[in-house]
Amino acid sequence: TIGMLAIDKNGDIAGACTSSGLAYKIGGRVGDSPIIGSGLFVDNEIGGCVATGLGEEVVKTVGSFLVVELMRQGKTPQQACEEAIGRIVTKPNSNYKNFQVGYIAVNKQGEIGSYSIHQWFSMTKFQDEKNEQIQSDYYNK
Ligand code: ASP
Repeated sequence: TIGMLAIDKNGDIAGACTSSGLAYKIGGRVGDSPIIGSGLFVDNEIGGCVATGLGEEVVKTVGSFLVVELMRQGKTPQQACEEAIGRIVTKPNSNYKNFQVGYIAVNKQGEIGSYSIHQWFSMTKFQDEKNEQIQSDYYNK
């Protein structure tokens, strides 16, 4: 999945994602990316979130909506992404060592966050005509 979040100088937020879907998926499978609230969610009063990784796990926790709701409750984008990953990895019998999920988020103030289960999840921040590559922190250390 490629996920994008944007915030303009007025603080208006937009998000988009595109996915090739899971490798070797069953025909007819619907991943998280086309389901608003799972792979992508934006509330212009609060912030936005996009997910990548094993869509089934994101759908089961309504991940992007969860991240935005956590920001609504006062969490930073970073804290919200970490808690949403926490909901996946702490499930009883979670098989998280065998799959990846990552989230990126932005809030209305333009603060950003990202978190994934495993390493090598990165995002690029583009601001003031400059790109900054950011390696996400991750759970499975
Ligand atoms: N999230 C996508 C899916 O499960 C996979 C991906 O990250 O591209 O369909």
